[in-house]
Amino acid sequence: MIRRKLRVLFAAFEAVPFMKTGGLGDVGGSLPQALKAAGCECRVMIPKFMTIPEEYKSKMTHVTDFYVSLGWRNVYCGIEKLVYKDVTYYFVDNEYYFNRERPYGYFDDGERVAFFSKAITESLQYLPDFKCDVLHCNDWHTALAPVFLREFYQGIPLYENVKTVLSVHNLKFQGQMSDYVLGDVLGLYGIPAAASQLRCDERSINFMKGGLLYSDVLSTVSRTYAEEIKTPFFGERLDFIFRDRQSVLHGIMNGIDTKLWDPATDPAIPEHFSAEDRDNKKKCKALLQEELGLEVAPDLPLIVMIGRLTEQKGMDLVQRVLGELLEHPLEICVLGTGDRQYEEMLWYHASQYPGRLAACVRFDESLSHRMYAGADMLLMPSLFEPCGLSQMIAMRYGTLPVVRETGGLKDSVTPYNKYTGEGTGFSFANYNAHEMMFTILDAVELYRDHRDVWEGLMDNAMAADFSWDRAAREYLDMYEGTHPEVTPYFKKKD
Ligand code: ADP
Repeated sequence: MIRRKLRVLFAAFEAVPFMKTGGLGDVGGSLPQALKAAGCECRVMIPKFMTIPEEYKSKMTHVTDFYVSLGWRNVYCGIEKLVYKDVTYYFVDNEYYFNRERPYGYFDDGERVAFFSKAITESLQYLPDFKCDVLHCNDWHTALAPVFLREFYQGIPLYENVKTVLSVHNLKFQGQMSDYVLGDVLGLYGIPAAASQLRCDERSINFMKGGLLYSDVLSTVSRTYAEEIKTPFFGERLDFIFRDRQSVLHGIMNGIDTKLWDPATDPAIPEHFSAEDRDNKKKCKALLQEELGLEVAPDLPLIVMIGRLTEQKGMDLVQRVLGELLEHPLEICVLGTGDRQYEEMLWYHASQYPGRLAACVRFDESLSHRMYAGADMLLMPSLFEPCGLSQMIAMRYGTLPVVRETGGLKDSVTPYNKYTGEGTGFSFANYNAHEMMFTILDAVELYRDHRDVWEGLMDNAMAADFSWDRAAREYLDMYEGTHPEVTPYFKKKD
């Protein structure tokens, strides 16, 4: 019986602090460390982007280099290494593909992503002192790695031992490419079974579809979203795969960085507070109201929204009732960028309700901290939400979320129950503007007339556990399921 640590290679296009454009970067930055702390040998592989800060680039060391075949091409691939916060990061080096201003958005993204996936699989035989048990891929950028692994390395013992996991963070982006990529770039044209699994219609192929069909285990970032994507509305035309493969589909909710997001130590907020002593939250609120040009009124509930101004985030609902809502005694501040129509709608209402609505149409990390700390409520009425981070951060700062019951919002927010006093926030079920508005107004009434109950909800929200440790334990269980012979190592620890 083998008794040793499970060795996981976590492959992604983003990992904080090297590259971040969204939630995937946060996961890539936090989960590997939590996995390591939980007792597994986790290493990370990302592209060596030009924009990685020099302070990290200058410390990287060369591990190895080799050539990767990509259709008719034979392409250089270097592997560099850096140990950061006790985790080993490998950087895939190819200047032609990665020496660019941005990580995505180029005409040859399909080829760049295919190169990265091939580099991952090829590198498994060249990494000294690391024999991979589980290759954990993330989103469409690495979805081809499980396809390559099974098609190009059959019969090689080192590869046959590797189990593959594909995690879906955003199903909207699937990597749909013209059919010619199949032969010209992937070199899979002559393998009919592979071709048919990747094809989504007679003219195009879909990288995510290939990854979902080839990976041993699938996961997504909340339990409810794992259920939702089995239905046509959420499934983005791949729902049939999630239904077929539901026995290997896991929903594991993301965590947040509880050191970074801590009202007791956060350097970006003007006054510190904790669950035990919340007095300073009132000062944070007053200073925020002043900074935003809102009326400095301690008793007016302050509702904030922080996020992309898109349909996904429920901006349609906000647009429909914002004027009506502002007729009530409350204040609103929105921080975000996105679709022009929503930006203009916010500016218009801000001009109509000066001192009551602040529209901050920009990306401002520091202000977001002050908003989480100073607000009473956070509104997040998403149409769909695979996981969502903002609601978890808000609860950590004692700011009660008002959310629609979908995806990770449903899993992370316990709605207020007026009979038992339980809850960490407020929620509504249907994607309906007035249902949202009445839920907000119920919360406003509770804030105004039953402050003791409100304080109890703040206690509950601030006590909730959104640390990565919980998520890491669930990922470990999932990995262990793919390698039962290694499992006793962990089971013994329990
Ligand atoms: P997404 O679907 O965009 O990944 P999440 O809720 O999972 O949504 O994560 C969004 C993260 O980005 C949160 O940490 C939020 O605070 C931050 N964020 C979003 N928009 C802004 C902004 N305009 N300024 C500062 N931070 C922002």
